[in-house]
Amino acid sequence: MPIRRLDPNRYNTGKPIAADADADWNGNNAAFTCPVCSKVFIVTSFNELGRIGLRCPGCGKSTAYITGSAAKGGEARIEWEWDTGEAAN
Ligand SMILES: [Zn+2]
Repeated sequence: MPIRRLDPNRYNTGKPIAADADADWNGNNAAFTCPVCSKVFIVTSFNELGRIGLRCPGCGKSTAYITGSAAKGGEARIEWEWDTGEAAN
């Protein structure tokens, strides 16, 4: 199952750096673009879904996770099923 992790050093810098165009991470909230259906959705570490995973509300074939925050060693990632045309890794 492919996994994409956001680099916390590319977010919350206050500068217009070349962060990912299809994702965002602000404090305890991360936004992802579903790799399967392109739905944009937000996951937060303020509730348990950040830990257990929030499934894409568009197709249910990807799951986003976030723990902590970008500034304090947190992790934000999305995992999805194979049938996307994306290269397996
Ligand atoms: Zn989706």
